[in-house]
Amino acid sequence: MYTPPLFDLSGFISSSLQGCAVLRFPGPKKLETYFAGARGPASVGKSRGTRTRAVHGPRRRKPGPLVTPIFASSTWALASAREGADFAVETAPPAYYTRWGNPTVRELEDALADLEGGARALATGSGMGAIASAILTSVDRGDHVVAGSSLYTATTEIFTRLLPRFGIETTFVDPRRRGAWKESVRLDTRLVYVETPANPTMMITDLSEAVSAAKSVGATTLADNTFASPVNQRPIEFGVDGVLHSATKYLGGHSDVVAGAVITAKRSLFDRIWFVYKMLGPALGPFEAFLVRRGLKTLPLRMEVQSRTAQSLAEFLEDRRGVRVVHYPGLRSFPQHALARKQMDGFGAMLSFELNGGYRAGKRFVESVDVATLAVSLGGTETLVQHAASMTHGPLTDQERRVSGITEGLVRVSVGLEDADDLIEDFDRAIRAA
Ligand code: PLP
Repeated sequence: MYTPPLFDLSGFISSSLQGCAVLRFPGPKKLETYFAGARGPASVGKSRGTRTRAVHGPRRRKPGPLVTPIFASSTWALASAREGADFAVETAPPAYYTRWGNPTVRELEDALADLEGGARALATGSGMGAIASAILTSVDRGDHVVAGSSLYTATTEIFTRLLPRFGIETTFVDPRRRGAWKESVRLDTRLVYVETPANPTMMITDLSEAVSAAKSVGATTLADNTFASPVNQRPIEFGVDGVLHSATKYLGGHSDVVAGAVITAKRSLFDRIWFVYKMLGPALGPFEAFLVRRGLKTLPLRMEVQSRTAQSLAEFLEDRRGVRVVHYPGLRSFPQHALARKQMDGFGAMLSFELNGGYRAGKRFVESVDVATLAVSLGGTETLVQHAASMTHGPLTDQERRVSGITEGLVRVSVGLEDADDLIEDFDRAIRAA
């Protein structure tokens, strides 16, 4: 029987890219930690360092363009009808039809799979494209889901508005409570869904605990790793089956692209998700893939600087009059600081805090900043602030907001690349104005 060529791009794309088939560097685990005080030896499962791999990806360099070109083609000229027939039944051929695969997109996917320590990645047109495809792959009519209570709003809405239409029930658990995952799984639980750190409460899920609960009933575990990025946390190392990203955020890193990704520990889950994705169609365009790949090259550097600034800002806010509480995993006062140290290599650049003045003070604060910008989204070079109760979590009911831990005065901050002193001065002034 004839076997279709898997991932052999030669013959389909220009000779400049020939040889770009997946070549990984085998070798022992590299130990790397970015920030003082964070988890000890990390276990990046490849021989080269994270910065090297963010720049080069997993491929050996070949003669040709240094940067993968943008393959702005929706379709590929085929050599024969036989070849077309082979591709039609293949999973994710990289040069057949762009919703199925595209060499520019594939280059990004391979770099992401490498950084997360996964078998394969699927890049999508948004974070929700990846999340919806992965969730819909993991559940069937009548199944049960266990999910963290603090999630990105549209993810919560999948569990509370979309899945109930198919008789799928979700139990939400407080990820801070030890044993909560184990207690909530049932024999019919098919999916355990976590987001850690969670948006915007910064609640941390113990990944090992969630995975062990899922495994005890044979459920799939999916983890949204958007806030941490693979620089600070690689959930697959803890046994998670699929890692999700809004690549709109840190992976792209410049607030100029909307994209997403799912990275799977095993090829088999990737194949199943790709099959659902192919039908739903949230494809990433090659231009956007190019931008995310470019952003990825500086991800470790951006993360390092932004996280350091976030730590300084969090420490300032913690001592500032008018601030009730600061949620930042890098603070010793953060209730889950020890857990964050255990499973993360750095604490990231997201934080949230509550103002004493409640809803009005929260709104006034975000309208009073000058260096920071009032905007949704996160993970870019500009510091962004938003008031969760009236903005990102506004679509939820009061009860849902309460369960999610969204208090009236909660302000979310995505710390950018500005100087820490400028941000501290800006926040000090805006708190006075609030
Ligand atoms: N997951 C998290 C944690 C997010 O913050 C977001 C967006 O803010 C998403 C997923 C959705 O990503 P996108 O807007 O790229 O669809």
